[in-house]
Amino acid sequence: MEGLSNIATVKAVMAKHHMDFSKSLGQNFLVNPAVCPRIAKEGVPGPEYGVIEVGTGIGVLTNELAKCAKKVVGVEIDSRLLPILEETLSDHDNIKIVHADVMKTDLHALIEEEFPGMPVCVCANLPYYITSPVLMKLLEERLPIDCITVMVQKEAADRLCALPGTRECGAVSFAVRYYSEPEVLFPVSHGSFLPPPKVDSAVIRLNVRAQDTVRRELEPFFFSLVRAAFSQRRKTLANPVSGQLGFSKQQVREALETAGLKPTARAEELSFEQFTALAEALWALRHA
Ligand code: SAM
Repeated sequence: MEGLSNIATVKAVMAKHHMDFSKSLGQNFLVNPAVCPRIAKEGVPGPEYGVIEVGTGIGVLTNELAKCAKKVVGVEIDSRLLPILEETLSDHDNIKIVHADVMKTDLHALIEEEFPGMPVCVCANLPYYITSPVLMKLLEERLPIDCITVMVQKEAADRLCALPGTRECGAVSFAVRYYSEPEVLFPVSHGSFLPPPKVDSAVIRLNVRAQDTVRRELEPFFFSLVRAAFSQRRKTLANPVSGQLGFSKQQVREALETAGLKPTARAEELSFEQFTALAEALWALRHA
């Protein structure tokens, strides 16, 4: 349907189907006609791509994605939207809607079944209540996807894309950077949604890394270290690391020295490479 992301059209579609917005499902639909084409243009690398969309709403973004991609599979949890989508997306024959909770969906199987031989990416205006869990599922499951382009709340965008060594950086920033190279693409004001949320948003793109960042064997330990370190981000690392990971303070000091770090180093000061070096040094001590 053309002009779908117009506020008048969205309101008319909702009224026709006696549909109200579910706050608990994070239903803030896009009503700025400039935003969806831009997400589709910047999120879909080429016309040969298959796209997974998480949460279609009434299909405003789905409609634009279908113009830029070979095929779109939208995963939508709210059954009330299914008859609406049949109507709003009827112009396209390259869209499939899967009625499911994305957190419970086997995305490896979905990709294999729906996108054989195609490069795949993910695009979405994410429901805010599960922003991080959805992103971590997409990344941790090591899906064969090239990039993830999503609308998130502005503060979440800053946190997810934060550079190590900055105030916004936390354990989740490290996790995102571990699997991808993140970037903030553009801001979107809260008035671009119906109903408008209290805060502004931003579209971010995570370019998924093809190579492992640290060797696989070390990976769970690397993440335990990052979580422990950021649980007391302003304290020197010796405290949380010895307390939570079962090393003596002397061992942590020794590992810090091996990694070329000062004994008073704190989580929020460390780069990715420094965390990796510290993980390697502690791992070597544990397995000495
Ligand atoms: N893409 C539409 C747009 O931009 O207007 C809707 C975006 S709205 C922020 C989020 C959508 O995700 C809603 O349609 C909601 O029903 C759906 N949703 C919420 N939780 C979900 C889940 N666990 N799995 C799949 N879809 C979900």
